[in-house]
Amino acid sequence: MKIAIIGVGTVGSAVATAVKNTGFVHEIVLYDRDAVRATAAADDLGHAASFGFDVKITAVSNYRGIRGSDIVIIAAGANQKPGETRMDLLNKNTAVISDIIPRVMSNVDAKHVKIIILTNPLDVMVMLAQKLSRLPATRVIGTGTMLDSARLRTILSRQLGVSTQSINAYVLGEHGDSSVVNWSSVTIGAIGLDDFCRQTKISLPMTTRNTIAHRVHNAAYEIIRGRGATWDGIGAAAADLLRCIINDEHRILTVSTVSGTGTDMVAMSLPRIVGANGITATLRPKMSAAESTALRRSGKIIRKNYDAI
Ligand code: NAD
Repeated sequence: MKIAIIGVGTVGSAVATAVKNTGFVHEIVLYDRDAVRATAAADDLGHAASFGFDVKITAVSNYRGIRGSDIVIIAAGANQKPGETRMDLLNKNTAVISDIIPRVMSNVDAKHVKIIILTNPLDVMVMLAQKLSRLPATRVIGTGTMLDSARLRTILSRQLGVSTQSINAYVLGEHGDSSVVNWSSVTIGAIGLDDFCRQTKISLPMTTRNTIAHRVHNAAYEIIRGRGATWDGIGAAAADLLRCIINDEHRILTVSTVSGTGTDMVAMSLPRIVGANGITATLRPKMSAAESTALRRSGKIIRKNYDAI
């Protein structure tokens, strides 16, 4: 299994580390328009690989080097500076994705390749990448709200005293400020959240839920304020998505992909079944009227920004 990572900055390097540590790939090629940076990352990661799984990690100086890649992960582009929103990156990263996708497509097998988008604003970049690549939407996948959902599960785990592995809780919509916490579908093991709270005598009133949702929405801003960027969470999310594809796991992940037609066409995160062929099904979770309204609003925000590019 050969993986290409385009953009080897903070996020690309973290993704390479996490992917290398899965043990599921034999070769990772790194491309960055800053060739010195890519070479240095390949050297450092190659040294790290000698302590674990035997993965060949090389920097390539042009797109011919990505030939034969089964999956291409795109982590290139401007990142948020403190106080900046993901949508603030729209113009800069439209140029980046427009530069990268045609070059990628000239060097991969369009019948099989899967493209994973990490670049923000994520959902708009997924739409752009799908349009430029002309690949089926099922094979142009954004990590979407996988990370936001992980943040939600982590907070709930501490609040409820239950492992994150036993919590099914999803954040839907935009990977950004309009994302929606889908409280209506949360289950703890086989039990709905309200029932779980009753049985365990844990109080989780609306005010607490709103505070949790606020923490999820603001997690990236807080991390960027504290350490300049976010990378470990997205690295792990990308590696998890990759593992799900490579092993044809058919797990349900909140990833972003294009769906709908005409003016309804939009990319956003919903629970989707992911396997070796990419996304094989999209599921509509239980939603309150307020959550449905918020999700529609989120889709409109993504679409408006896509139309603006
Ligand atoms: P960074 O500045 O550290 O690295 C970006 C890299 O992209 C640089 O090495 C740069 O040389 C390279 N690059 C830029 N344009 C390029 C091009 N046209 N071709 C090839 N390489 C190019 O930034 P970062 O912190 O690694 O963030 C990268 C992206 O990931 C940002 O858009 C950021 O917002 C996004 N991000 C997404 C998530 C998520 O959950 N999806 C989480 C964190 C960051």
